[in-house]
Amino acid sequence: MTKNMSLSEKNSKINVTGIIIFEKKFKENSKSISILTRELGVIPVILRNSRAKKNMLGNLVQLFAYGNFILSHNNNGYILDDIEIKDLFFDLRNNLKNLSLAQYFCQLSLVLRPEKYYSNEFLRVFLNSLFYLSSQKKDHRIIKMIFELRACSLSGYAPDLSSCDSCKNYDPYRSCFVFKKAKIFCQDCAKNINYLDNNCMYLSKSELFCLRHITYSPIEKLFSFSISESTINFLSDVIEKYVKFHVDFDFKSLEFYKKI
Ligand SMILES: [Zn+2]
Repeated sequence: MTKNMSLSEKNSKINVTGIIIFEKKFKENSKSISILTRELGVIPVILRNSRAKKNMLGNLVQLFAYGNFILSHNNNGYILDDIEIKDLFFDLRNNLKNLSLAQYFCQLSLVLRPEKYYSNEFLRVFLNSLFYLSSQKKDHRIIKMIFELRACSLSGYAPDLSSCDSCKNYDPYRSCFVFKKAKIFCQDCAKNINYLDNNCMYLSKSELFCLRHITYSPIEKLFSFSISESTINFLSDVIEKYVKFHVDFDFKSLEFYKKI
């Protein structure tokens, strides 16, 4: 990825780097797409005359197409003029479970709509997640955990896992993760708060360490950690419930992923 492909405007053209996370037919002969971009977050874009024989773009405009997009901008929004494809993530199609998970990442990104300030980091997490899914080098459950929690963190739902929110103990033996507050409380302080309900879960030291790693570590190290089988299952549940609490949306792709 070239670092100098930042947003640029020349002759009212806009050049962005991103990946297509939504695509459907629009009107008789066009496509409506959404691109997760490095520069602008998620943007809606129209491709005109997508079925015309001379329009090669129609074939390239597909889910998971990653590259540089040349756009025009008018009062009605963005129009796609050209693409320089870098990757189509074809290997995702080799495994239905991984494909459905990647589709869930797309749908979650569409709902979360990362803040513009974090769109570069969000895109990097997204691309890394697809890379690990495509290569099948990492347990898909771990990739799911990482993407869900980090994507939420970059979209206004970052939990504060630094220390007990009450006594500031940063190394509690057990901590209670309260979803509504997006904070943790040590076991002693948790006894004194009155909003504990089903939307909180207790964490061991190692479980809290994993959540901190996913939330705070630099992307270069984000996918590099080991985790026991029982911890994978438990933290998968914790993170999915945290996402569900803040993003109350039924994702069909997630349902399908779980059924496979
Ligand atoms: Zn405390």
